[in-house]
Amino acid sequence: MMHDQSNTVRAKRHDQYYFRDGSVILRSEDTLYCLYGEMLRRKSDLFHTMLPDHPVQGDLVGIMDETGRARPRDGSCDDYPIPLSTFHTAGEFNELLSFIFDEWTPVPRTLESLVAILKTASFYLIQNAREYAIDQLSTYKSFPAPLRFHLARRYRVLAWISPAVRQLFALPYRDMSDEDMELIGLGPLSGLMRARERIETHRKSVAAGPPAPRHDVACKDQEACTRAWNHAWWGTFNKPGVAKALLHPTKPVPGYDLIEKLEDFNAVGMHPDCRRWTLSWLCIPPASRRFSLEETIIDNFIDQYTTILQNAM
Ligand SMILES: [Zn+2]
Repeated sequence: MMHDQSNTVRAKRHDQYYFRDGSVILRSEDTLYCLYGEMLRRKSDLFHTMLPDHPVQGDLVGIMDETGRARPRDGSCDDYPIPLSTFHTAGEFNELLSFIFDEWTPVPRTLESLVAILKTASFYLIQNAREYAIDQLSTYKSFPAPLRFHLARRYRVLAWISPAVRQLFALPYRDMSDEDMELIGLGPLSGLMRARERIETHRKSVAAGPPAPRHDVACKDQEACTRAWNHAWWGTFNKPGVAKALLHPTKPVPGYDLIEKLEDFNAVGMHPDCRRWTLSWLCIPPASRRFSLEETIIDNFIDQYTTILQNAM
C-alpha cells in the first residue's frame, strides 16, 4: 500500500484527535492530528527526539525556503504538518491515541486494535502502551498461533515464543492458510515441518514396536504374559491400545501424556507384578526417553527461536 505523505493530497483533520489547544500538527496518510507535543515527548522516547521542545502551532516566523521566502515551521499548521512514519497507517496510529487518551470505561478491544497498539507502541517506544498490548494479547481468547509467533519475533516478545511454538506444533497443516504460512516465515516453517515429520516417524516407530515387558520372578508363564502385554499395546476392538493413541489421525496423544496414561493401561492376562514392574520401568530414563523425544524436539525448537530473539535484543 502507498502512503502518500505529500501535501498535494488533501488531508483531513481527525474528528477526535485534532485538539485545538494542541501544540503540534502531525500527519499520517491523509489524516491530520493536533496533539500536545510535551505530552508525547514525555511518553515516547522517539517523539522525544522527533518533536521540537517548544510549541510550534501558529509559529509563522518560520524558516526560509529555497526561494528565500519565509516558510512556516513543520508542525505549525495544517499545510506544514510533521509527517509520521509510513511504517504504520493512520488507522493504527488512531489505536495508539485511543490508548493514550483512554476513556473512563474501556471497551473490549479487538485483536486488530491490540496488534496496532503493540506495533505503534513498539515503534514510538511507548513502554506502558506496549506492556498493555502484550498483557491483553497474552490472555486474548482467539490469538492465532502463526500471528503470535510472527509478532513475538517482530516486536521481540520473548514470553510468546514458547506458547506460540506449542500451538504451531499442534496446528493441523490443513488449517493453515497461505497468509499463516507467510506469517510464520519460510525458515521457521520448514524447520517446523521437519520437526513435525521427525515426531510423526518417531510415533510410528514407538507404536509399531511395543517395548518388551519385564517379568517378575513370580511370573510362571512369560510367554502368555508377554502376549497379554502386546495385545494391550495394540488394543482390542473395544479397548484402544497405546499404538492407537499414538497414531490417532486427528488427536494423537502426545508422548509425554502417554506415560501418565500408561497408569490406566489394562493388560488383561498379564501378571500384576510384571505389569507394575514394566510400567515403572517405562516411566524412568532411559526407557521413558522414547516417550519424551517428542517433547525434546519441541523444546529444542523453542530454545532455537528464543536464542535468536535474545541475541537480536
Ligand atoms: Zn510376566
